[in-house]
Amino acid sequence: MDGRKVHVKNRKREEMEVQQILHMNGGTGETSYAKNSIHEREAIIKAKHIVEGAILDLYCSVFPESLGIADLGCSSGPNTLLVISEIIDAISLQCCKLNRSWPEFRVFLNDLPGNDFNTIFRSLPGFYEKLKKAKGIDFGPCFILGVPGSFYGRLFPSKSLHFVHSSYSLHWLSQVPQGLEDEMGISLNEGNMYLVKTTPPLVFKAYLEQFQRDFSLFLKLRSEEIIKGGRMVLTLNGRRSEDPSSTECCSIWELMSQALNDMISQGAIEKAKLDSFNLPYYTPSVKELKAVIETEGSFTLQKLDIIEMNWDGNDNDDNKTIIFDKFTSGRTVANSIRAVAESMLATHFGEAVIDDLFLRYEKNVVEHLAKEKTKHINLVISLIKRE
Ligand code: SAH
Repeated sequence: MDGRKVHVKNRKREEMEVQQILHMNGGTGETSYAKNSIHEREAIIKAKHIVEGAILDLYCSVFPESLGIADLGCSSGPNTLLVISEIIDAISLQCCKLNRSWPEFRVFLNDLPGNDFNTIFRSLPGFYEKLKKAKGIDFGPCFILGVPGSFYGRLFPSKSLHFVHSSYSLHWLSQVPQGLEDEMGISLNEGNMYLVKTTPPLVFKAYLEQFQRDFSLFLKLRSEEIIKGGRMVLTLNGRRSEDPSSTECCSIWELMSQALNDMISQGAIEKAKLDSFNLPYYTPSVKELKAVIETEGSFTLQKLDIIEMNWDGNDNDDNKTIIFDKFTSGRTVANSIRAVAESMLATHFGEAVIDDLFLRYEKNVVEHLAKEKTKHINLVISLIKRE
């Protein structure tokens, strides 16, 4: 299989495609990201101490009059302004302690152009009002701006930022890796939308190399936009294992491939459709992530934490009194994956199959949870901009 020549498609076109079809479900309805992002919210809460540590270190070493902060892959919903609130709270408390006046806050919310920026913008007057109430009339000023575009391109003027945050976004690649088909155009990873145990080594290699290229480019671009000594805190799905097909990172998607295969066997979806669908997603190991940071060289890794979370975001350590049954958790997990992946799946397989697909997926998740409680592994890194 690995001796086969691979079929290389037009890289720029594939990148455009991902940018157009990848977006979380907008609005505030039942299937929206806003209503189904409790898991991602938990990750932000668990990484809070790392964000606070980094922003306070930065603030107390620079004392900027105007503080430039960016959240990359902000999406739309209750999580969007959560980190920004945490940062503002930490700085304003520190200003009170040191008896200093507030800095001016320049906050940039970035996501792909398909993101529901309108819902964010509509929530801003309420957010400003709350800030004024909590901090007093002379707080700020605080300017929040939307920046549509890919973080795999330049987004901000040179040396204009002090702090960059991103949560649950950098595991999304700029494009589906090349080389996932042989020269006849046949999928090397037949019947699967992501990596599994039987995936051939060439496909693992293509995914790893795409991640290395993307993450390295991301670091280089941010290094041009962040001042010397500036900080970044990034949380992304990763893995403890060196095996890129380990359960901790792949089961969640394998259960989706199973649902699609069921639909194929019942004639609801064509097999070729699944074979031509590959997720633009990668979960690096600690070693892979560190290697890119070191090779690229613009940032020093100050801290790396691993945060483990149950698939069901409600099922966290604080909720010890509630017993989470597999049916409720299965529904929560299916809804949260739907809010994330529906745009991509509907564009490829058609809107008509989505309800059926997610019912089957939910059933598969329930069956999986009955056997084992797999955890998501999140890597949280705190970086300092070098010279
Ligand atoms: N940070 C939010 C949203 C995470 S969902 C939270 O923690 O809840 C991931 C977000 O990353 C999506 O909104 C997606 O559109 C965005 N994203 C993915 N690739 C991106 C890219 N190349 N540039 C900008 N945003 C991207």
